Amino acid sequence: MEQLLVFDVDGTLTGPRRVMHEDFARFFRTVCVSRRVFLVSGSDMAKLAQQLPEFVLEAVAGVFACAGNEFLVAGQAVYRMEHFFPGELTGFVDEFIAASPYPVRCGHHQELRTGTLNVSVVGRNADPVQRAAYFEYDREHGERQALIEAVMDRFPGYEANRGGQISVDISPRGWNKARVCQELSQRFAGAQLVFFGDNIEKGGNDQPLAEAIVAAGEHNRVHPVADHYETWQILQEEYGSAPIPVSATG
Ligand SMILES: [Mg+2]
Repeated sequence: MEQLLVFDVDGTLTGPRRVMHEDFARFFRTVCVSRRVFLVSGSDMAKLAQQLPEFVLEAVAGVFACAGNEFLVAGQAVYRMEHFFPGELTGFVDEFIAASPYPVRCGHHQELRTGTLNVSVVGRNADPVQRAAYFEYDREHGERQALIEAVMDRFPGYEANRGGQISVDISPRGWNKARVCQELSQRFAGAQLVFFGDNIEKGGNDQPLAEAIVAAGEHNRVHPVADHYETWQILQEEYGSAPIPVSATG
């Protein structure tokens, strides 16, 4: 049975919004040579290219960007799901951000991606320290969960999930990472799907895909990981002894 490996990026292959560890990237490429590997990210390709070396992006079989609303093979779009987000929704989000008691605003609070509106109270311009501070605040106060519930309550045609460390992804209902499971199940009927994600718990942006993968076949597997070091460790244990093909060295 063919095995397809599917990886979230932020927090699973890299630190949050960080560049992939060089040694891990080299090892990861060898994994990509021996089987089909797909990446799934809330980010767009421009951001992914900042985090992952080109040789990794070239080695994978495909990339699902913008929470699966864009699918690229060898850099070419296979599909792209566009959506127009109404001003009523973006205005509602603006009001939520303005009303938040969190004291820090770093700018760039709403980002439109293919099929997804990415929203952050602290703002996407936050540096790693500001991100970590907001992440802690959110863990204590559940602000992102409150935003998720407020959006889904007010706009039933939309769904929202926690994305990464500081943001919430809003999409038309059903437009989430779970699409990746449908796509791969259709393209590679009968293959085993193995998914690695750091945000698989309730409300996390990996949860819809993890659930879909488990439901799609009992031979499928999901690895919830704490960070990229755990992913690295699991891959080393499972695939580390595989001989490194000549084409993957150097
Ligand atoms: Mg993640």
